[in-house]
Amino acid sequence: MATDAPAFDFAERVRSAPETPGVYLMRDRKGRIIYIGKARNLRARLRQYLHQQDERFFVHLLRELLGGIELVLTQSDKEALLVENELVKRHQPEFNVKLRDDKNFIHLRLGSEHAWPRLEVVRRPKDDGARYFGPYASASAARATLRRVNGFFGLRSCRDTVFKNRSRPCLEYQIGRCPGMCVLPVDRAGYDESLQQTALFLSGRGGELADGLRAKMLAAAEAEEFEQAARLRDQWQAIEKSLERQRVAFVEEDRDIDVFGLHREGGRVAFAVLRLERGHLIGAETFTQSGAEFPDDEALSELIVRFYDRGAQVPDVLLLPIALDDDETLQSWLHDLRQERGGPRRRPQLQQPQRGDRVRLLEMAQENARQAFDDQLRGSDRALATLEGLRRKLELSRLPRRIECFDNSNIQGTDPVAGMVVFRDGEPEKASYRRFRIRGMDGAADDFATMYQVLVRRFERAQRDGTELPDLVVVDGGPGQLRMAVAALHDLGVHDVDIVGLAKARTQESDDAGSSRRTPERVYKPNQQHPLILPQQSDEVLLLTHLRDEAHRFAITFHRERRGKRTLASALDGIPGVGKARKAALLQTFGSVRALRKATPEAIAAVPGIGPALAAQIQEALGRA
Ligand code: SF4
Repeated sequence: MATDAPAFDFAERVRSAPETPGVYLMRDRKGRIIYIGKARNLRARLRQYLHQQDERFFVHLLRELLGGIELVLTQSDKEALLVENELVKRHQPEFNVKLRDDKNFIHLRLGSEHAWPRLEVVRRPKDDGARYFGPYASASAARATLRRVNGFFGLRSCRDTVFKNRSRPCLEYQIGRCPGMCVLPVDRAGYDESLQQTALFLSGRGGELADGLRAKMLAAAEAEEFEQAARLRDQWQAIEKSLERQRVAFVEEDRDIDVFGLHREGGRVAFAVLRLERGHLIGAETFTQSGAEFPDDEALSELIVRFYDRGAQVPDVLLLPIALDDDETLQSWLHDLRQERGGPRRRPQLQQPQRGDRVRLLEMAQENARQAFDDQLRGSDRALATLEGLRRKLELSRLPRRIECFDNSNIQGTDPVAGMVVFRDGEPEKASYRRFRIRGMDGAADDFATMYQVLVRRFERAQRDGTELPDLVVVDGGPGQLRMAVAALHDLGVHDVDIVGLAKARTQESDDAGSSRRTPERVYKPNQQHPLILPQQSDEVLLLTHLRDEAHRFAITFHRERRGKRTLASALDGIPGVGKARKAALLQTFGSVRALRKATPEAIAAVPGIGPALAAQIQEALGRA
């Protein structure tokens, strides 16, 4: 397909787009398709992107990224959905939702290779003769079930190697959760029965199991086997209770429901789909996606199409966490799909429940999406990916594993201070933070000179002590602050440290009518006139703003501390008997006038060199002040 020239005229493209339904294919400057979307009104949709009415950060990148937009006109919204679906499947564009299954098809496995089988959590079922139960929504959900089931049925929980090497039963035995077969003689038939009961319970036949246990308990009582009856009663009650919890958690429903959860952080999003058949949870799946820069409703709508298109049975009801623009089109498409597959004639409903059990289900799906997000996307891989993204996008000379960020704080030039915070591998390293009292500038608010002084002091010290240098320096501010920081490093002969300025997003009055718009966070690089504007919700910007906010917090806390001490020092001036040493001791203990005013006479008297009489005088003097 033809590739548009880099000087793509977005505004013209919008003007020439028809106000009819269709599909748009966005290409980057190299001609690659990066996103395919559908719209009821193509011109209106594209205009949204042009005017950046969309909060999603991808739109801010459009001008930089886009090489062209192609349109496919359709007769209806539904046809647009079908065409979009086909094209996305064929081209798999970078910014569309990809339904890669997560690795967390978590199951419980009950093997048969060991003489005393146990249940274990596994990622994927294998064809190995073992029994598998699940899938569970998350590893923690599977582990919680495992613990509960082991408790009910007295299965061993130890690994085979532990089992083999025990000389005494472990704590599990002592608390009555395991018969201790690692060492003790245990009734084989009894354990086999426990295994059968476990399988019954895990395959969703807990009610049948509870009835069986109750019948056995009554029979044992009848036969005056009271110990056995008591054991069966405890087991039965525990299972009943658990089933009750399930009944409360999983609603009374005579319909099949799929519940969708969505959790987003920056450009990464996780979805969860809980599948309920007549009120029973029969499955849960989660999907995670990076680089999901388009709006949540578009992403969710896409997920739904991909999910059912690849074969999932269409339920009676879909519970959704947010409203979808194209819900009617989707509903109609799902209805057709259901018919094609010989499903019930009822039209599937898309709902956003507001109250009742269905809201609880939705909360559960949201929680599962969050959990999937944590499981899949957090952690070191993610941190590394963010640093790599930063290196690439800011064109740094190396991976910024140690980043130092500097911020100044003063009020009209008084008590000027600065803070340096350090992030290693994307995480704060508090032990390396440093505070600076700015020298020779009290009363003169000069941000630029302050920045120069701080950077010189920080790097002089590194040169003197041979301590570690950062990979990247971030200064809070625009070109002015950056110039000062660059000059400081240059003057010290430090040339191999990357340095950028981060200018905060601001809200600007944009027209006479007083409407305002928010400028994005901007990154300034030395010798570049224009700032870089990264995707505003990207992990890279989130990391930079986290750094800057942390530096700001750190500097301002130090500033307040200093100001508090100075005010206290002057408040103590002139109190008879409070000389330099006592003043220092009071400053050290209370730090501010406010804290000293609130202190009890006893606390003040306890300060070295003060005593009750002087404490009373101090309180009186501060009370008058
Ligand atoms: S008591 Fe023995 S068999 Fe039971 S869990 Fe402990 S180590 Fe394993």
